[in-house]
Parts: sequence; C-alpha cells; structure tokens
Amino acid sequence: MNPIIKVEDLKAVYLVREGTIKAADGISFEVPENSVTAIVGESASGKSTIIEAMTKTLPPNGRILSGKVLYNGKDILTLSNEELRKIKWKEIALVPQAAQQSLNPTMKIIDHFKDTVEAHRVNWNHNELIKKASEKLKMVRLNPEAVLYAYPLQLSGGMKQRVLIALALLLEPKVLILDEPTSALDVLTQAHIIQLLKELKKMLNITLIFVTHDIAVAAELADNVAVIYGGNLIEYNSTFQIFKNPLHPYTNGLINSIMAVNADMSKVKPIPGDPPSLLNPPSGCRFHPRCEHAMEICKKEKPQLIETENGAQVACYLYKEGGR
Ligand code: ATP
Ligand code: SF4
Ligand code: MG
Repeated sequence: MNPIIKVEDLKAVYLVREGTIKAADGISFEVPENSVTAIVGESASGKSTIIEAMTKTLPPNGRILSGKVLYNGKDILTLSNEELRKIKWKEIALVPQAAQQSLNPTMKIIDHFKDTVEAHRVNWNHNELIKKASEKLKMVRLNPEAVLYAYPLQLSGGMKQRVLIALALLLEPKVLILDEPTSALDVLTQAHIIQLLKELKKMLNITLIFVTHDIAVAAELADNVAVIYGGNLIEYNSTFQIFKNPLHPYTNGLINSIMAVNADMSKVKPIPGDPPSLLNPPSGCRFHPRCEHAMEICKKEKPQLIETENGAQVACYLYKEGGR
C-alpha cells in the first residue's frame, strides 16, 4: 500500500537550562494510506514529540534539528505557515494529548466549531456550520441537540473526547492523528472510544495515527505498531507480528508485561531498571543498561533500524539485515 506519510530521520530536541533533551532521535517510518498506526512507548519516551514535530506543533523550546515528513511526497517541515494552514485540518487533523483541557469552559460547543471554521477560513454560513457540526457529532455518536449548545463542563470526559474527535473531523481530513485518545478516561469509556475509532475507520476513508502508552490499546485498534524507547524507534511491524513474534528485547518485555493480566504471574518478567534520561542518554543502544542480551558493541554504537527477512524493522544487534 502507498505511504500517505513518510517520516525520514526526524530529530527533535528541547532546549532546557541543563542542556538539550534528545526526545526524538532519528525517527523513520511509513504510514500506509487508510491504515491505523499506533505509536507505542512508556511515559516520556518521546511519543508526543514525534507527533508534534510531524505537525510542527512543538512548544516554543522545541527544535526540529533534521528530517523530513513527507505527506503525499511533499515535505511538511519545509512548508510556509500559510501552506501549512491549508493542509492542517483539511488534510491532516490532530487531537493533541490532554486536549480536553483546551476546550474553553466559557464557550459553548457550537462556538468551538465556529472558531475552527474561522481559523481555517472556510466560508460556511450559520446553517451550513450547524449542519456540518451536527453531522460530525452524530458520527461520534453524540446527540447534536444535546451537545451543540452545552458548555464543556456539562459534558463527561468521554463526551469531551468525542467532541474533540468531531471537531478534528469537521473539515474531513485524510489523516487523523490522536495523541493518547484513551488516557485519563475510565476503562469503560476507553473501550467506547476504541470502538468509536474502529467505526470511524470503517465509515470514512481515513488514515489514523494514534499514540498510546498502552500496548493493549494498540493491539485492539492498530494495523501497524511503531515501538518507541528513549526517543528511538526500536521496532516497527504489523500488530499481528509484533504480538506473535516481538523481536526487540524491549518489545518483548512490554508484551510480557500485558500478558500478566491473563497469564501465569510466575512467568511474568518485568523489565528491570529505569527509563533512560533523554538529557544524558546512554551511549550506543539506549536500552543497553536494561538489556539482558547487551554486548560490547551495544554500548558503543547506536543500532540502526534494519529490515529482517520477514519484513520486520528492528534496531538491535541481535538481528541482521535480511535475516537473523
Ligand atoms: P507521555 O506518555 O508522558 O505523554 P511521551 O512519550 O509523549 O510521554 P514526550 O512528551 O514526547 O514523551 O517527552 C519526551 C521527553 O521530552 C521527556 O523526557 C519529557 O520530559 C521531555 N519534554 C517534553 N516536552 C518538553 C518541553 N517542553 N521542555 C523540556 N522537555 C520536554
Ligand atoms: Fe539489547 Fe544490544 Fe539489542 Fe540494544 S542492541 S536491545 S542492548 S541486544
Ligand atoms: Mg505524550
């Protein structure tokens, strides 16, 4: 399948008083059109940084050092603000992490839709706006009559998340990116949001990219999974293969830890050690201080992402290009 988005060697950092936080350190992956891709990793591994760098929405102390983000062959990172504005929301829409807090408590939901339309200079009259907003709210299984004139505080967390998804769908983007769409929600509401995203995928001609710290959510929803560790993409494969045959020792540990819910607890091995500091990351493979297979080379040189004979991509010296 054709990639709709191709990320090439994306490097992004944050400048802080103590130095430079290397939060996305040479990330490359392809997103096939009409697929669902999950970006998975533990907290502070750099997932949001990747999404924010890809959409040029990094905070003021964030810097993109290098890389390309090709959307249908065009590098988003080189677009002017005006060109970027044309693409955003109409082609690529983003629901950022904790976006619920960005809903203005003094504005009714209809006014959030109005603001979005105005910000993207779309000429709809009031009736058209109501029609389109209602259509999108119905798509996310909300009752427009109950929601359009409500204030955010009158809605539950799950309803707010649905409103944010409806807002992101307003201009019918081809790619929808969601950063932690299910975190901060109770388990039942999380399941409803996952179900909704599945339905949207079936209903619309859309490519979904979502971030989660929960590999179980990725298993439910994604076609492909990109595993992030310490600012590096360490494994990329179909969801089926990632679960059936995880290659990287970290991916293995992650999958092992979720199997704990159903499996024999005595077989569960938590990953020892702590996540790396991204201010002073470990040399070579950033996972080496925690890896039971670490070799001398792992401490010295960063393993590149290579393709194994089965088409999996992995950054680990246990594997060789084209085979083990
Ligand atoms: P989470 O699951 O908690 O959302 P994440 O995987 O999305 O984590 P990022 O938010 O991308 O991680 O952060 C990657 C690293 O960059 C972390 O060490 C984080 O502390 C740091 N970081 C993020 N934003 C900033 C910022 N504005 N200034 C300085 N450091 C930052
Ligand atoms: Fe472990 Fe070395 Fe592979 Fe890193 S490169 S995961 S340290 S074996
Ligand atoms: Mg994040």
